[in-house]
Amino acid sequence: MLWRGRRQSDNIEDDRSGGGGLGGGGGQFRIPIGGRTGGGGSIFLVILVVLAGWYFGFDPSTILGGGGGGLAPGGGGQITEDSGSATPANDEMKQFVATVLAETEDTWTGIFKSQGLTYEDPKLVLFSGQIRSACGSASSAAGPFYCPGDHKVYLDTTFFQQLDQQFGASGDFAQAYVIAHEVGHHVQNLTGIMSKFNQMRQGMDQAEANQMSVRIELQADCFAGVWAHFTGQKGILEQGDFEEALNAAQKIGDDTLQKKTQGYVVPESFNHGTSQQRQTWLARGYKSGKLSDCNTLSGPI
Ligand SMILES: [Zn+2]
Repeated sequence: MLWRGRRQSDNIEDDRSGGGGLGGGGGQFRIPIGGRTGGGGSIFLVILVVLAGWYFGFDPSTILGGGGGGLAPGGGGQITEDSGSATPANDEMKQFVATVLAETEDTWTGIFKSQGLTYEDPKLVLFSGQIRSACGSASSAAGPFYCPGDHKVYLDTTFFQQLDQQFGASGDFAQAYVIAHEVGHHVQNLTGIMSKFNQMRQGMDQAEANQMSVRIELQADCFAGVWAHFTGQKGILEQGDFEEALNAAQKIGDDTLQKKTQGYVVPESFNHGTSQQRQTWLARGYKSGKLSDCNTLSGPI
């Protein structure tokens, strides 16, 4: 992606030096990482669990405790080294993320405007190790997530190394896809899709909720594709960029991840979609650039 020299978003909150994620903040819902919880009914918990760790097999026990978890082969526990000085204030990774975020702002502002709507930029919080959001606390192990409660995307950029080294999804546009997917959840939040999902989620059993979650996640993939479509029109995609995103979508499909981590698949537990589905919806958004092609909420997926 030809991102250098382009506008960088001001909506980055750099919390990588640590501390900020753990202090203050009354009234926030804390996810008891490492502890046991029952099937708590908190909507915030549900949302966090649905949206956090979007690339993993979404086994809630990995977030809600229960030990071992097995998020990924090789442990993937919390990233604890946090010297506070190892991260330059304005390193290249931050510039890249800020540029991609700016591109999503421009694209979605335009799309919303064309529908007579106003897009509100999300914030993107860079963190290291652990972070507190309006959706509760989360560790890096949960992966990037979007919190509807505070309109923020949370990203520990060490995830990108994991994406590359553990999951075999390399390239800057694989990373851009991750960001665009999370921004896709923000779009769902602004357009009311997410609150509709939460209403429908009430009264569903786990298997039904998982199926609904897949539809929500595939739509975020499709929205990422829509963003990539318009980004491509700007002439800043390089040869092979979109293939990097497609490859990432393949590598983080529920079936592929489950095969990799546990050796077998449990379709009822899928909550982000199969590799095939994720690629299909990402490609669908990319091809047309039309939101109307991203209706994953009804019909076959
Ligand atoms: Zn997601």
